[in-house]
Amino acid sequence: MKNSTMRMTEQRALILKILRSTKSHPTADWIYQEARKSLPNISLGTVYRNLRLLSASGEIMELDYGSGYSRFDSNPENHYHFLCQECGRMFDIDLKLFADLNDLVEKTLGAQVKEHRLEFYGICRECQKH
Ligand code: ZN
Ligand code: MN
Repeated sequence: MKNSTMRMTEQRALILKILRSTKSHPTADWIYQEARKSLPNISLGTVYRNLRLLSASGEIMELDYGSGYSRFDSNPENHYHFLCQECGRMFDIDLKLFADLNDLVEKTLGAQVKEHRLEFYGICRECQKH
């Protein structure tokens, strides 16, 4: 019992470390490939389960854009993303609009806004050069 608890903690810590080491907003599969370098016996299911737990506890953020697979972000704070439709890279956008937009919608509708989502799609600077 103690051993399996320790393994779980070790696996979760590794997954978190991998996710925090990149700004690429990776998929579970990419994280799995990285995790295997340190823990060869780790399974994709375990990686998924830990990613779900980490996002449920607010330590990371799951980005589900309905493309069939999620990407994961080590930054759980609300922020916007730009997805390049050429290379598939995802960039953070440093816009401080969350509170303003929520206020605007609350005033317009008289509703209470808890969160909102807004995504940007296009062609990144690198891909425009080709
Ligand atoms: Zn691109
Ligand atoms: Mn991000």
